[in-house]
Amino acid sequence: MTVIAIDGPSGSGKSTVAKAVAARLGLAYLDTGAMYRAAALWADQAGLLDQPEALPKLVQQMPLEISLDPADPTVRLAGRDVTGPIRTSRVSGIVSRLSTVVPARRVLVARQRAIVAANRRPGIVVEGRDITTVVAPEADVRLLITASEAARLRRRALDQRGQAGAEAIAATRDEVLRRDRDDSAVAQFLEPPPGVTVIDSSDLSVDQTVAAVLELVR
Ligand code: C5P
Repeated sequence: MTVIAIDGPSGSGKSTVAKAVAARLGLAYLDTGAMYRAAALWADQAGLLDQPEALPKLVQQMPLEISLDPADPTVRLAGRDVTGPIRTSRVSGIVSRLSTVVPARRVLVARQRAIVAANRRPGIVVEGRDITTVVAPEADVRLLITASEAARLRRRALDQRGQAGAEAIAATRDEVLRRDRDDSAVAQFLEPPPGVTVIDSSDLSVDQTVAAVLELVR
């Protein structure tokens, strides 16, 4: 029975690490960012992203299926596989417009809490921005994975553009820094709240970061 809550900004490496930790410990894995991304895509397709008052109901009725398998974290909307489409720059650019609408967040947080409750045995790794504080503050292990701005920009540029030259870094800036600034309005994930352990991954490899998390879980 283990709930591991991981928060952090974009490019901190938290998704890669959370997935690896879940796989190593045989736990379920929930990427709450994927739920916000799917909701933003759903709202965008419905043309309702500019109507905040319509978003809670839309999100409530969203036909979302999210796999909890760390080896295959597929996301489906109305039966369609949107695992790739939710990672496009377009969705990264619009997702904060949905995630900063507090009543829409409430709907997603309720769904996330239900998933955590249903997977306490054998356990679940949950990652996002407000997991240690709002979704699962009672988690057995609560972590904030951070990294320097330079490290985060480099990782995102490599992820999204396959290179980390000056141009790719510049193109990644808005996506990473503006999004974190917008997201900070509704979730506090840049400084650790009381009881939350910080892991700075700036100078750590993925394996080293995973090892640090596993050490804390033990
Ligand atoms: O983690 P990822 O970058 O995929 O998250 C996408 C977006 O979802 C974030 O930029 C943020 O707007 C939103 N999000 C959130 N709360 C979470 C997880 C993600 O607001 N717990």
